Amino acid sequence: MTKIMMFGVREDEKGLAREWAKENKVTLDFSEDILTMETIEQLEAYDGVTTQQTGKLDDRIYKRLNELGIKQIAQRSAGFDMYNLEEAAKNDVIISNVPSYSPNSISEYAVTAALQLVRKTDLIEKKVKEHDFRWIEEIRAREIKSLEVAIIGTGRIGQIAAQIFRGFGSKVVGYDLYPNEAAKEFIEYKDSVEEAIENADIVSIHMPATEDNYHLFNKDLFNLFKDGAIFINTARGSIVDTKALIEALDNGKLAGAALDTYEYESTYFPKDYRGKEITDPVLKELLAREDVLLTPHIAFYTDVAVKNLVEGGLDAVLSVLKTGTCETRLN
Ligand code: NAD
Repeated sequence: MTKIMMFGVREDEKGLAREWAKENKVTLDFSEDILTMETIEQLEAYDGVTTQQTGKLDDRIYKRLNELGIKQIAQRSAGFDMYNLEEAAKNDVIISNVPSYSPNSISEYAVTAALQLVRKTDLIEKKVKEHDFRWIEEIRAREIKSLEVAIIGTGRIGQIAAQIFRGFGSKVVGYDLYPNEAAKEFIEYKDSVEEAIENADIVSIHMPATEDNYHLFNKDLFNLFKDGAIFINTARGSIVDTKALIEALDNGKLAGAALDTYEYESTYFPKDYRGKEITDPVLKELLAREDVLLTPHIAFYTDVAVKNLVEGGLDAVLSVLKTGTCETRLN
């Protein structure tokens, strides 16, 4: 019987994975470890592997996988910046992802976070808990309908976020390296990121992390933001220079930021750090700030998304084993 190892497994994935294994008549084992040069030895006698990596993989992994007779790694996420696709191809290892498991989940979260910051819900809740029920300027919010929203990266997730904001009546502008013809109906495209953010009250980013956009949101770009803008990052941490973002919050360029990703998150997210010391000074600063809504990469985290990720990863493994390839291969 085909034997698949599911690395990086969480408790909440196991039930769905067991159902899939039963339906597909496959032996499935679980490991909470992620794939490293040490844990790779657990794969001896397995036919395939699916995992949920967060940090970069050691390049030696691909050669060792080949030696173990494993021909693929099926990543259970959309992002694949942690893989060296060329090195994997050289060693006949097919890398696949689950490109679209619920764009709505991420878009809905980006909008939720924007609303939370614009409507100052955390501050209002804090005041109510202290029995301060006054109507005072500190909690007076802006109307979402009156705001201009800039969507940077107008693919699957960005387009849905744009449509939800349009539902509120907001003006939506956008920038993408490749503007989408159909999205021109509801996004006013600009020719550069600088032009898109210029008048925006909310800037929400929805593009993959690439070498070209590393720290794209840096001091110079934040300086061009409208005063008091709100910045939402549900994309990838490396797109933002976090120290420059903190400076922009300090000098009032930004009124608030919702960060669902952080450049050095892989040490912390999604782990239980209760009672343990956080040593990263930048992360500590983000956690301490009232103007930052920090979440542990949970924008995607809905029941629909988890089901699609588990099944998408396992389907890709089985497809490579049966046909030598899969629809979601990346190299
Ligand atoms: P997509 O491929 O459908 O769209 C990405 C868009 O970004 C494309 O239109 C592309 O042309 C554009 N783009 C790429 N580089 C750009 C640049 N430098 N400037 C402007 N536009 C650029 O991807 P998607 O499904 O919409 O996902 C977007 C991103 O969301 C993912 O790459 C991932 O980083 C992030 N994501 C986050 C979570 C989460 O839980 N926080 C979950 C899934 C995906």
